[in-house]
Amino acid sequence: MAARPPHQIRLDESEMPTRWYNVLHDLPTPPPPVLHPGTGQPIGPEDLAPLFPLELIAQEVSTEQYVDIPEEVQDVYRLWRPSPLFRAYRLEKALGTPARIYYKYEGVSPAGSHKPNTAVPQAYYNAKAGIKRLSTETGAGQWGTALAFACAQFDLACEVWQVRASFDQKPYRRMMIETFGGTVHPSPSELTAAGRAILAADPTSSGSLGIAISEAVEVAAQDPTTNYALGSVLNHVLMHQTIIGEEALLQLAKVGETPDLLVGCTGGGSNFGGLAFPFLRERWAGRMNPQVLAVEPEACPSLTQGTYAYDFGDTAGMTPLMKMHTLGHDFIPDPIHSGGLRYHGMSPLISHLYETGELSAVAKPQTECFAAGVLFARTEGIVPAPEPTHALASVVEEALRCKETGEEKVILTALCGHGHLDLPAYDAYLHGRVVDHGWESADLQASVAKALTKLPQLA
Ligand SMILES: *Cc1c(COP(=O)(O)O)cnc(C)c1O
Repeated sequence: MAARPPHQIRLDESEMPTRWYNVLHDLPTPPPPVLHPGTGQPIGPEDLAPLFPLELIAQEVSTEQYVDIPEEVQDVYRLWRPSPLFRAYRLEKALGTPARIYYKYEGVSPAGSHKPNTAVPQAYYNAKAGIKRLSTETGAGQWGTALAFACAQFDLACEVWQVRASFDQKPYRRMMIETFGGTVHPSPSELTAAGRAILAADPTSSGSLGIAISEAVEVAAQDPTTNYALGSVLNHVLMHQTIIGEEALLQLAKVGETPDLLVGCTGGGSNFGGLAFPFLRERWAGRMNPQVLAVEPEACPSLTQGTYAYDFGDTAGMTPLMKMHTLGHDFIPDPIHSGGLRYHGMSPLISHLYETGELSAVAKPQTECFAAGVLFARTEGIVPAPEPTHALASVVEEALRCKETGEEKVILTALCGHGHLDLPAYDAYLHGRVVDHGWESADLQASVAKALTKLPQLA
């Protein structure tokens, strides 16, 4: 029997990349600067110093092509990295497609998602700077879990504001955060001015990521031994995630493949950027020519229907202004099951690459995503987190298109997390309780426009 390429393409520990890739070095045009909301001028390191350690601030604005991964961070990464790349033979067979589908699986991490890739270095640089505690927000709990694990590695306390709706409905990640040593508060809370203001207006508020960010930032800004950590959106976060794409490049090279299409789900853009950026570098260098596709939920379509404008990262308006695709900083999406994709904005880097035509985007309704997730579980044996089922829905669509045309396209996707703690979402889908939440484009435009009028006047 002729040997066929393997199902699992593994790297040895010694082959793990030891540098992150900084896409800012190679961008054909630079992205617009981050602005101070008071002055309308580009922010400097001193504006971020109350929240972040200097090394992360330096990474946020660095234009060096590569940043070395500290030994201490590599040591923790080795608990689960390099992560496996799989060829989805069984999914291909079920679809009857000539496409070759590969998925990079990040569900093997301690949190079950890609988030520890940035949580670990963030905790490391903060501990090195003498910080004692990190505060953060979390939606479904993926980021809080990752940060609590990372803080435990470097003896930091970890305080998490979890969106109220998830705190009530999804207790398991709260339990995981507490198991890793973190503390969890439902948001909005009475513990911060931002939380109290929201509760005064609506005592039954179910919260949002934007509100939870306001609370976590407020706590960090007021205590010199506490810093803030963000799990997506920012340049340094996307850079930490590039270890996903760097490993995938090495793994595909082992089986002699180059991708024709990269597909990832986008909430704030970090797993997608982490997979795609190293491949964009290869494309800009003329070594391959993959098409790059971001997939977002129809219920929170920041790239495909948001406005490209300066906006706050949080609801209370405490963060710097970032130019990004936004649905407005007070946008509260319907409670879809993909908690990780319910953010009003998109990373400035991903937004900029979308504006400049380096990548494309589509929005998918959640029933189509769950259908793809169930097919994936039944063929490949992994129950995906609801977020990456968005990418899988586009993979399935493209693979079926290849079946029509006979094209042997090579498709690579990021399976950025497993869904073991999201089973109630699958239960709802399997028993007909999942509905789709689309938006009328005109309604969205009006709501964004209204939110943006609340911004300070920019010079
Ligand atoms: C947080 C999360 C996301 C969304 O965040 P990105 O920054 O867009 O990657 C997607 N998938 C999973 C599994 C997550 O935990």
